[in-house]
Amino acid sequence: MRPSAGNERPPGRPVSGFVPGFAAGAPPPAAGASPFGAAAPLARPGGPAGPFAPPTQQQGPPVAQAAASPRGPFGAAPPAAMGGYRGPPPPQGSFGAGPPPPGPFSAAPPPQGPFGMAPPAQGPFGAAPPPSQGPFGATTPPSQGPIGAAPPPQGPFGAVPSSQGPFGTAPPPFRPPPSALLQPQSPTGNTMPSPTYVRPPPVQSQPQPVQGYYPGGPNPQFPPSRPSFQQPMQNMPPPSMGPPSSYSNQPAYPTTGPPMGTLQTLVEDFQSLSVSSAPGSLDPGVDVNGLPRPLYGDEEPAKVLEAFPLNCHPRYFRLTTHTIPASQSLVSRWHLPLGAVVHPLAEAPDGEEVPVVNFGSAGVIRCRRCRTYINPYATFADAGRKWRCNLCTLLNDVPGEYFCALDASGRRFDADQRPELSKGTVEFVAPTEYMVRPPMPPSYFFLIDVSVSAVRSGLLEVVAKTIKSCLDDLLGFPRTQIGFLTFDSTLHFHNFKSSLSQPQMMVVADLDDVFLPLPDDLLVNLVDSRHVVESFLDNLPNMFQDNVNVESALGPALKAAFMVMGQIGGKLLVFQSTLPSLGIGRLRLRGDDVRAYGTDKEHILRIPEDPFYKQMAAEFTKNQIAVDIFSLSDKYCDIASLGSLAKYTGGQVYHYPSFQATTHGEKLKHELSRDLTRETAWESVMRIRCGKGVRFTTYHGHFMLRSTDLLALPAVDSDKAFAMQLSLEETLMTTQTVYFQVALLYTSSSGERRIRVHTAAAPVVTDLGEMYRQADTGAIVSVLARIAVENSLSDKLDSVRQQLQLKLVKSLKEYRNLYVVQHRIGGRLIYPESLRYLPLYILALCKSLALRGGYADVSLDERCAAGFSIMILPARRLLNFIYPSLYRLDEVLTVEPDMIDGALKRLPLTLQCLDTAGLYLLDDGFTFLVWLGRMLQPELMNDILGVSLSNFPDLSKIQLRECDNNHSRNFMAVQRALRERDSSCYQLPRVVRQGEQPREGFLLLSNLVEDQMAGTSSYMDWILQIHRQTQSS
Ligand SMILES: [Zn+2]
Repeated sequence: MRPSAGNERPPGRPVSGFVPGFAAGAPPPAAGASPFGAAAPLARPGGPAGPFAPPTQQQGPPVAQAAASPRGPFGAAPPAAMGGYRGPPPPQGSFGAGPPPPGPFSAAPPPQGPFGMAPPAQGPFGAAPPPSQGPFGATTPPSQGPIGAAPPPQGPFGAVPSSQGPFGTAPPPFRPPPSALLQPQSPTGNTMPSPTYVRPPPVQSQPQPVQGYYPGGPNPQFPPSRPSFQQPMQNMPPPSMGPPSSYSNQPAYPTTGPPMGTLQTLVEDFQSLSVSSAPGSLDPGVDVNGLPRPLYGDEEPAKVLEAFPLNCHPRYFRLTTHTIPASQSLVSRWHLPLGAVVHPLAEAPDGEEVPVVNFGSAGVIRCRRCRTYINPYATFADAGRKWRCNLCTLLNDVPGEYFCALDASGRRFDADQRPELSKGTVEFVAPTEYMVRPPMPPSYFFLIDVSVSAVRSGLLEVVAKTIKSCLDDLLGFPRTQIGFLTFDSTLHFHNFKSSLSQPQMMVVADLDDVFLPLPDDLLVNLVDSRHVVESFLDNLPNMFQDNVNVESALGPALKAAFMVMGQIGGKLLVFQSTLPSLGIGRLRLRGDDVRAYGTDKEHILRIPEDPFYKQMAAEFTKNQIAVDIFSLSDKYCDIASLGSLAKYTGGQVYHYPSFQATTHGEKLKHELSRDLTRETAWESVMRIRCGKGVRFTTYHGHFMLRSTDLLALPAVDSDKAFAMQLSLEETLMTTQTVYFQVALLYTSSSGERRIRVHTAAAPVVTDLGEMYRQADTGAIVSVLARIAVENSLSDKLDSVRQQLQLKLVKSLKEYRNLYVVQHRIGGRLIYPESLRYLPLYILALCKSLALRGGYADVSLDERCAAGFSIMILPARRLLNFIYPSLYRLDEVLTVEPDMIDGALKRLPLTLQCLDTAGLYLLDDGFTFLVWLGRMLQPELMNDILGVSLSNFPDLSKIQLRECDNNHSRNFMAVQRALRERDSSCYQLPRVVRQGEQPREGFLLLSNLVEDQMAGTSSYMDWILQIHRQTQSS
């Protein structure tokens, strides 16, 4: 059977839709008046005539090849290796026998692959499906969907048979690491002086005397009492937000708390809050000032490195508790997630660089059984001729080229000179066994909606200018590939052949049977075709300026992009400004439905309606294409569906509601520039191995799971983090240490195949208290937030929030039980120092855009976009997203410019911190919200806004630009300082005046997560609730 070929046209089909030189829907220009001058000759694909007639056999679409053709992307790949990376040569050891494992994307047996139900002989883009069926028509999505497809037993990293567990053949007993590497199991053991707990002054978080290797928290100074917010707001937020009842009836810092300075001497290492009140009294008895607040953001558990100096830095790999419970019973008492957050390409800590190691002829040194890479925890034996794998304990031969003698302690003499033996993070140069084709060139393909809404919003100009300004900085010079496809109700291909002086546009109007009007020159080398590309970008805004077409054929455009990019892979950037309305993948205006909330149908609005996007994503991932979605609609555009393209390809969703170039142009410009120029790992896969007895069970983030534990990431960069959960495979752990190793195999932009390896060790503990002491709130919140977002795709928001609360309560209850009896602390809420911010973060998560409220509290698209963001954010950014940073600025604007950064002090997120005479800025990492108090000095306000408020400017449209005065200059300096702290996103300033409803409600009040609003608890009420629940039996 002939490979099916979606870009071929069946004989005899009309080509009436094929119109050169202008967009259908626009009036045909006079001859020769197409935007690029001479109209391209009309080609009839499949016919003999036109200059662009595609060769009929040479360009079967890659998908079809994967299924039916033995040709790899560059013709060199073995039959089963399409799109994936073959592992290294079959190991010689016990797993070495048998034929080489099939590549991860090889033609899997039908019931397993993501498209398993499709007839194997017909690619998903089969040439001639029955008319009633779309290309995916016959495909009943398997119950698992592309994610969770049954894995081939062996992935590219030479995984082990899943049925057996990695160590099926009774390995020798796990040898404890040499004492030099061994840390006391319980670094916080009893050798430390017993801390004496003294009830802290107003601010809790009094650092404890040294406890374990985590520092006591910083000592955030609660701001001195400010004039409280006494004037009740005159305008209430809209009903949907609920009245912010905390405005006037919540007292300013209560003075009725328990007597301060109660000295309760406790010889244990936990924190407690007095919540006691006389029986029957309604007086909550909580000192609001004393509640812990994370005003210093994420606390990277850098102290782990003191106990485990050979570990990778925790910014690459963080466990939710840096311990491994020794037994199942201990696991069942740890009610928080047991797992990790991995940020494989995080920026290296200051002053460090990831060392690159080339093993040369010795080849990459790996354990022949479990495929672990050599690392600082490996030990050497037999005078240096053998090395023992720290994950599976197998004794491996040391290749002759890699041999080095050992010193008296059994350490290699060259250990300090070799990064792989002394550093937790290294990068190996991968030899040719790690590739099935030459490393791909970085390639960028842009799919740009040019329908009327895109034109009117000014999108085209911003996109064209930004891309043009980035051309010198695109990754991979001089190999970079680039191409563009524009679309409305038709598809517009652009020929960038280097010999042309201007690009040629070819329009394909047949959406049911998309084909390429040209075999080559749609994705071209940037150096060769630079002048043609620049000419295109210069003309793009004008080309469609009169377009009145309202339709969007996104689905067919995606298929066309796939045909163009499929052979190479790369990044596909989609700019969508309206709901896809034509062809496959058209979406309904299903919008939000108040009746669905609270029912078991509620979640359906948050999941893709049409399986097309998920299926398309699976095809993209197979062919090493990562999709970034830029959604810029002023109406509902079904981010839930569009986002799945990013979700399963390692991509990202950018959402600019009601995009207008004049307002949002800067933000789009910065974020698009970063997307195009940040260092990117191409065609990558990631696997995390762990030692005997534990196993990663679920993964959360943007990727496609290629086998049980192999994450396919067509592209990944420093802005993406992943979370995963861990389970114990044995009832009782017999080792003292468990090792983890993250390996990311990728192609660098310079075209080198690399493996980035992070290795970490964690102690096995038998003490629940130790698990709590080593708990990492940032990692816990990262895992919990991702699970919550995923649960919101199959459950009601309310249930999701309740589940979060339940986890918190169970965990604090368990902790309480550890101490309550011996210390008679009945009336106090106790919690471990390490988790002192967890209750607030969980409250904030429940009030986040993704999980807050119900119908009308957040627009459906915004909610879904926030969910997609949460899935990829590294811990620090995630924590700042759910508990944003609030600063008072009016006082900062008078300091010397170079003192500004240091003068910014975070405030608790409560209305009570807002002085009506103040100017405040709230930074959630995506937006700067500038709040002008009602009594703010008019001069200051005018200086900053550049206009007088007495002119009643529309603050929703106001642009903050630097004006010629010190206030304004400093105000800009503040914004720059905050943006420099994290350049992954560009916070666009939005200005709101106190009392300006409903904007104030949406923009600011909903972010004041410590206050009561719309039926949610205030922080104080939340603590009381949690306390009550931890006490109940
Ligand atoms: Zn091993």
